[in-house]
Order: sequence, then C-alpha cells, then structure tokens
Amino acid sequence: YSKQLCIEKLGFGTINKIYLIFSHAFWDVDFNTFNFLWNTTTEWKLTCLENTSYDSQWCKSITGFYVHHRLPNMLVTQIGGEAATYIETIPDEILTNCFQELFGRFYPDNQIPKPKKLIRSQWFNKTSTHGSHTFIKTGSNTHDIKRLAMPWPNQPAKPLILFAGEGTHERFYGTAHGAFMTGIREAKRIVELYKKEFINQ
Ligand SMILES: Cc1cc2nc3c(=O)[nH]c(=O)nc-3n(C[C@H](O)[C@H](O)[C@H](O)COP(=O)(O)OP(=O)(O)OC[C@H]3O[C@@H](n4cnc5c(N)ncnc54)[C@H](O)[C@@H]3O)c2cc1C
Repeated sequence: YSKQLCIEKLGFGTINKIYLIFSHAFWDVDFNTFNFLWNTTTEWKLTCLENTSYDSQWCKSITGFYVHHRLPNMLVTQIGGEAATYIETIPDEILTNCFQELFGRFYPDNQIPKPKKLIRSQWFNKTSTHGSHTFIKTGSNTHDIKRLAMPWPNQPAKPLILFAGEGTHERFYGTAHGAFMTGIREAKRIVELYKKEFINQ
C-alpha cells in the first residue's frame, strides 16, 4: 500500500483569500462585515461579464466580506471549492469589476467605488501546491492519512524519511494546529530514536 496511493485517494481542496483595497471606506466606521444572502433558486448574472467568456456561477460562493482588523480601507473574503479554482482563471482587472458590481447589487444605497487594488492567493494554479488543504474524499478514510504519516521504511529502529504536515494528522488535517502537532510528533520520534541509539552505545 504505497504513499502515492494514499495521496491519490485523499482529497486536496482549495481555499483562496481575496483582499480588496479601496481609496476610502464606503461603509460606516462601526460596520465590520458585509453578508450576502443568496437566493439559490434564482438565475443570476453579472453584467460586467456579459461580453467575456466567464460565467457568474462562482458569485454565489461569496458569502460576505469583513473589514481587515488593521487596515480600515481593506475588505477580505474567502472562497472555497470549485468556485475558488474557477476564479483563479479570471484576470484581476475583470474580477475587480465583478466585486464592485456585486457590492452594488447587495448594497444599492451605497456609492461603491472601484477597488484600487485586488490581492489574492491562487493556490490551485501554483505548481508547487495545486491546492491548500487535505480532506477526506469519497473512497478515502483516515487510514490513508495514517499510512501517509508512517515513517519510511516503517521499521522503528531505522526510519530514513519522516512525514509531517497538515495532511498527516488524522484528526486535524487541513489545519495549522494539525500541522504544528505533526511537527512535534516527528520531532519526538527523532528524540526517541537518538535516545535508543545513545543507550545502546
Ligand atoms: C486561505 C486559507 C485559510 C486557512 N485558514 C485556516 C484557519 O483558519 N485555521 C487553520 O487551522 N488552518 C487554516 N488553513 C490551513 C493551514 O494554513 C494549513 O493547513 C497549514 O499551514 C499547513 O501547514 P504545513 O506545515 O503542513 O504546510 P505549509 O504551511 O504549506 O508548509 C510547507 C512548506 O514547505 C515548503 N516547500 C514546498 N515544497 C518544497 C520543496 N520541494 N523543498 C523545500 N520546501 C518546500 C513550502 O514553501 C512551505 O513553506 C488555511 C489555509 C488557507 C490556504
């Protein structure tokens, strides 16, 4: 049962963060979140995408923005799943127009300026990552994670390669604390290995 098979069976999803920087805040100072409540049964299209090859389906995965805790002119959102991988293909300039229109639709009483700048992650299209987090896909289970985490070769006396990282924690995969705990786990393994070697000398 190879490590490669575990990797193939497990899912690797994408979450991207998007930051919009405005010249000034168009919202009230004491306002800190914008929530978008979508009507899922209604067909919905962005007019700014009409003459492009892009569709508007991804919009419904945007559920809101929050004001950055340190930068009062910056709004932040996260997008996940297929919509996240899809919008990675939309150029910044077009996406900026999309968000301006989106805010205009949900907050028609506000004058929405065009964001000055858009900054975002594109984890799916980065050749060194192709996504952002492990998940249990249909057909896989936590045994695949356990197997992925096993040292190689799996002989307690002499492992040559150890495996840490979020995708090797069977409970907290996909998280920063899970990744941290696997680092501790493997560091302890090394300590135990050296302790045994020292005692056997
Ligand atoms: C948008 C987003 C939001 C998230 N939000 C949360 C959250 O709220 N809470 C939470 O707990 N988790 C969250 N996560 C998940 C969390 O960030 C990750 O699970 C965690 O950072 C994974 O840590 P890691 O050490 O396993 O991998 P990484 O942090 O990816 O570290 C791997 C390192 O290996 C390096 N590397 C890669 N290839 C090579 C190579 N060939 N040679 C040398 N170095 C290499 C990389 O540069 C990188 O520094 C989020 C992730 C994303 C993308």
